Amino acid sequence: SKNKGRNRYEFFSYLMEDEALEKRRLIEDLRIAIREEQFELYYQPIFSLDGQCAAKAEALIRWNHPKRGLVSPGEFIEVAESSGLIGLIGDWVRKQAISDAATWYEKTGHVVQISVNTSPLQIDQGGNWANAWIEQTAAKDLPPQAILLEVTENTLMDLSSPIQEQIERLSQHGINIAIDDFGVGYSSLAYLQKLDIDVLKIDRSFIQDLQTNESSVALIRAIITMAHNLEVLVVAEGVETEVQQQLLQQLACDYLQGFLFAKPMPAQAFYESYVEGAPV
Ligand code: C2E
Ligand code: CA
Ligand code: CA
Ligand code: CA
Repeated sequence: SKNKGRNRYEFFSYLMEDEALEKRRLIEDLRIAIREEQFELYYQPIFSLDGQCAAKAEALIRWNHPKRGLVSPGEFIEVAESSGLIGLIGDWVRKQAISDAATWYEKTGHVVQISVNTSPLQIDQGGNWANAWIEQTAAKDLPPQAILLEVTENTLMDLSSPIQEQIERLSQHGINIAIDDFGVGYSSLAYLQKLDIDVLKIDRSFIQDLQTNESSVALIRAIITMAHNLEVLVVAEGVETEVQQQLLQQLACDYLQGFLFAKPMPAQAFYESYVEGAPV
C-alpha cells in the first residue's frame, strides 16, 4: 500500500506538471497574440422590450488562434489576469472598441452605445485607466456616452481604493458605468447611489430560473424596482426564450440581451444588420 500511495502521488504530480506546462504554453501564446494582434471584438446587440435593437451592443473579445481557431474569453481571461497580461489585452480592447464606435458614429451620425468588459486588474492605482478612456475617446471625436464600462460587483467592493475615484471621474465626464453579473457577487446597494451607476446587468443565472422559480421572479422584481428608484436602467442577460421575454416585459425591465435575439457577431455583421440604415 506504500507503493500504491507513491504511484498515486506520482500520478497526481504528473498531471499537475502537465497542467502547469499547458498554462505556460497558453501564456506564451497569449504574448504572441498580443504582439500580433490576433484578437477580434465580436458584438452582441442589445434590444428593447419589443425586440427592436436599441442601438447598443456588448463588445466580447475573441482570439483567432492560428492553430486552435476561435478561442472564447472563458478559456483565456483568467490566465491573462493571473499572468499580468490582462492590462495589455485591455489596452487592445479599448483601442478597438473606440475605433469601431467612432467609425459607426462617423458613418451614421448617431451614437451606438458599446459596452466594454473590464477586469478589476486592468484598473491601476494611478488613474491611467480613466485617463486613457477620456483621452482616447476625445482623440477619435467619440461622444463619451457611446461608451458603457461594465465592472463586476467585486471590483466595487473596495470603495476606498482609487478605483472609486476613477469611476467617479469617468462618470462625471459622461462615460457610462454598468454593474455586470448583478446578483452573483458581493451585492451591496450602497455603491449604486454613491457611484452614480447607470446600468445594472442581471446575471444570466437569474434569468434562467425565471420560468421555474417563483422566488427568482420576486428577486428580479425587487432589483428592477430598486434600480428604477435610483434612476438606474436594467439589462437582462442571457434571454433565451419568449417566455422569459414576456416575464421581463411584465417586470418592466429596460433592455434584453441574449441568444433569443442575437448571438455575438463580427463587427461588420453587426454594423450591416443593426446599425446601417437603422431608425434613429
Ligand atoms: P459576460 O460579460 O457575462 O458576457 C456575456 C456572456 O454570455 C458572453 O460570453 C455571451 O456570448 C454569453 N451570452 C450572451 N447571451 C447568451 C444567452 O442567451 N445564453 C448563453 N448561454 N450565453 C449567452 P463570452 O463572449 O464567451 O464571454 C464570457 C466572459 O468573458 C464575459 O462574460 C466576460 O466576463 C469575459 N469577457 C469577454 N470579453 C471580455 C473583454 O474584452 N475583457 C474582459 N476583461 N473580459 C471579457
Ligand atoms: Ca459583460
Ligand atoms: Ca453616469
Ligand atoms: Ca455578464
